[in-house]
Amino acid sequence: MSDTFKNYIAGQWVDGASVNDNLNPSNTNDVVGRYARASKAQTEEAIAAAKAAFPAWSRTTPQERYEILKKASDEILARKDELGRLLSREEGKTLAEGVGEAARAGQVFAFFAGECLRLNGEAVASVRPGVGVEVTREPVGVVGLITPWNFPIAIPAWKIAPALAYGNTIVFKPADLVPGCAWALMDVLVRAGLPAGVMNLVMGRGSEVGQTLLEHKDVHAISFTGSVPTGRKVAAACVAATPMKKVQLEMGGKNPLVVLDDADLKIAVECAVNGAFFSTGQRCTASSRLIVTEGIHDRFVEAMVERLKGLTVDDALKAGTHIGPVVDQGQLDTDLKYIAIGKDEGATLAWGGELLNRETPGFYLQPALFTNVSNSMRIAREEIFGPVGAIIRVKDYDEALAVANDTDFGLSSGICTTSLKYATHFKRNSEAGMAMVNLPTAGVDYHVPFGGRKGSSYGPREQGAYAKEFYTSVKTAYTFAG
Ligand code: NAD
Repeated sequence: MSDTFKNYIAGQWVDGASVNDNLNPSNTNDVVGRYARASKAQTEEAIAAAKAAFPAWSRTTPQERYEILKKASDEILARKDELGRLLSREEGKTLAEGVGEAARAGQVFAFFAGECLRLNGEAVASVRPGVGVEVTREPVGVVGLITPWNFPIAIPAWKIAPALAYGNTIVFKPADLVPGCAWALMDVLVRAGLPAGVMNLVMGRGSEVGQTLLEHKDVHAISFTGSVPTGRKVAAACVAATPMKKVQLEMGGKNPLVVLDDADLKIAVECAVNGAFFSTGQRCTASSRLIVTEGIHDRFVEAMVERLKGLTVDDALKAGTHIGPVVDQGQLDTDLKYIAIGKDEGATLAWGGELLNRETPGFYLQPALFTNVSNSMRIAREEIFGPVGAIIRVKDYDEALAVANDTDFGLSSGICTTSLKYATHFKRNSEAGMAMVNLPTAGVDYHVPFGGRKGSSYGPREQGAYAKEFYTSVKTAYTFAG
């Protein structure tokens, strides 16, 4: 198996138990690479290595950790075009999106390099005479990182960088569909000087590698991003484990974008097209529900269809492609199933929804836009995770807000309006972790918290300085000095 990309365990690149052919969704004849899949026993070795490395790594100085993270950031940023191409080739988002995501990963490492130097605590006056109180943060221990396929470099980066910055050691399991970016990131960190065992890469299946992380007593915390059903299992396993594990879940969305009568139509259409269809609609923050008041509804629908007609769906790596393929056959089947469900439920397919043939065999789907959708339909309630948008017509702002909040999810939300009154009210009353005004529901900054409410998220926020809530454990120390 010498031609395979290997796992990284205890400072060594090692062959796996089997091999995963990583296919390009724009051209299934193109094998991006052959990647080792780790076994349960290898995952246990990785956990043992992370455990052994923890005492020394947790005692490194902020300067030592800063230098490694900064080096990783510098290399990722210098190689963003190449890494972005790899990302687009294995995941199917356009080259511009892939390069943008690679650059984002570099920025995340730079931010957390700085965080190494900014970690502080508090000295508090005690209620008792002669006693001093200190509140400090310590690393949690060995953290298991489990990531999805749709942001193959940014999501691993925003888990790995804070885990390392705050002194934890890592066992990282990326999604089986996108081992390429995970391997590249591991390779960068090895070159940046990470000591053996501090970070271990175990590529492979959730049911084997992931499950081992959830059950093993020496993994102290799990940071998971993925679907709600898997997230539920992850949380249950973390609580069932002895000792219980700290857990953080980022999951799905059914994000609303409200468009009011007074919106700038051009801005509203750009927000909706970007939010619902870019990255092939495969974003947890995608605007899958477009909630439009009746005074602008018909003009909005007409402008949306015109805009969609002008978008090119093609090979992710081709210049001029606006929307790449769906990630794989399974996701394509899901998208087509929901398009059929939408029609059966009585929604009107205003545009798209059909399979497309391109030069190479790939999973090409014309973005689908439904109108006459009610918020009780399955296409308005269940996460599809594909290029399928649903327009829900409402009377006024009050109904729009009620419909926006009537969902089991609560990740991101948006409103397009020129009214300060409605924008302010929406920001305060939207039941989502992130609220956007005249911006797409997807697309966030890297230095501020990211996460949602209700069924979308569980546990502390990711990203920005808030990441320390998960990756550190608070200690309160009391001293009586006489
Ligand atoms: P998924 O739940 O199928 O898989 C996520 C990860 O969990 C993968 O690495 C998978 O191998 C692993 N896994 C599967 N079964 C497991 C088990 N029993 N034990 C441990 N690990 C297991 O999700 P996906 O299809 O890769 O990603 C798409 C989902 O991710 C969507 O629902 C999307 O909304 C969500 N997502 C959320 C965010 C966010 O930040 N909220 C960001 C991106 C994606």
